[in-house]
Amino acid sequence: MITINDNYLKLKASYLFSDIAKRVGAFQKSNPDREVIKLGIGDVTRALPQACVAAFHKGVDDMATEKTFRGYGPEQGYDFLREAIAKNDYQSRGADIEADEIFISDGAKCDTGNIQEIFSTDIAIAIPDPVYPVYLDTNVMAGRTGDFKDGKYQGIHYLSCTRANNFVPDLPNQPVDLIYLCFPNNPTGTTITREALKTWVDFAKKEKALILYDAAYEAFITDDTLPRSIFEIEGARDVAIEFRSFSKTAGFTGTRCAFTVVPKSLMAFDKTGGKHSIHSLWNRRHTTKFNGVSYPVQRAAEAVYSVDGKKQVRELIEYYLTNAALIRKEMGALGYDLVGGDNSPYIWIDGKSDSWEFFDRLLNQAGVVCTPGAGFGKCGQGYIRISAFNSYENVEKALKRIKQVL
Ligand code: PLP
Repeated sequence: MITINDNYLKLKASYLFSDIAKRVGAFQKSNPDREVIKLGIGDVTRALPQACVAAFHKGVDDMATEKTFRGYGPEQGYDFLREAIAKNDYQSRGADIEADEIFISDGAKCDTGNIQEIFSTDIAIAIPDPVYPVYLDTNVMAGRTGDFKDGKYQGIHYLSCTRANNFVPDLPNQPVDLIYLCFPNNPTGTTITREALKTWVDFAKKEKALILYDAAYEAFITDDTLPRSIFEIEGARDVAIEFRSFSKTAGFTGTRCAFTVVPKSLMAFDKTGGKHSIHSLWNRRHTTKFNGVSYPVQRAAEAVYSVDGKKQVRELIEYYLTNAALIRKEMGALGYDLVGGDNSPYIWIDGKSDSWEFFDRLLNQAGVVCTPGAGFGKCGQGYIRISAFNSYENVEKALKRIKQVL
């Protein structure tokens, strides 16, 4: 008899964005003439930068003749891309990261979801609340939690992010082994200072813990005093893994390319205290279960680091940040307490009511889709997330409609 992994039964019935899609679908069905503006799911709307498109085309042309054709590539990614990342994203900012510490993949979602597989199932885990749901759900699937009760999974140490701590979690008041952090944050749009990040690195060192640092929105940081990478912080090489993605940086959500940085100095322990290289473990996992990102896509990603690519990516990010500034301004003027949107595409708004009620109100009365904060965790109750990923015209129109109904 085939039996299931019954940890899956602990998962909440449905994924946040499918719940939203259902409500939006029902609204559209009963209001076929109403135009809906989507500022909900964090998907980009603008085309790939021209430099990436040209490199993508060239990559496809390379596949068309036997002289330049490529079959299976290295599972970890081509050197041309790993070297461009190491040089531009890390070494140029004083972060000591080598090309062979970078693993190219088809998404930070897969990487942040898969990484837990190489660690023991009986470790103590700290996860922010609210949170990008992937970190939590993949640990539930792996059996690291108890049941879901009163808005929380038993056995997880939740790091509350509230107005009281400006949505940057406090250090755990108990020992933990694995810590998930995400800055600029999804969903709150907040960032972390160097000083605050250093306290996490020091804490992890003291606890022999590991930080999983999701920097998928790094490109939105405009404040130069803020760290773009955890590896800009002294000591982080010994306690952190970093996840990055071209999805939000360069519009690759449908093209798929991301990377994970695993320093070779990073160690984890077996039951007798013996040390093991996390880089070797991840390499073993990655090469066993993944066969590389397609060659033309890696060429397109490489173009992000060309002179033209850098300029075009900057323009793309500035476009969304202009939308974010408008959302901040208008929602702030309506009297809502909010954070995010200055170094991030997300604005986290205290809706002063139940998240789903506020969501329904915006959908049914204004025809605008946001994301209810409660879907990201218990601390998200009362909040909504508005995303800046849409055209400026649509953001303007959405805000006009919101102003009329609120
Ligand atoms: N990490 C965070 C915090 C995200 O918000 C997202 C996507 O929304 C991802 C990772 C996934 O990125 P990718 O498109 O590379 O899978």
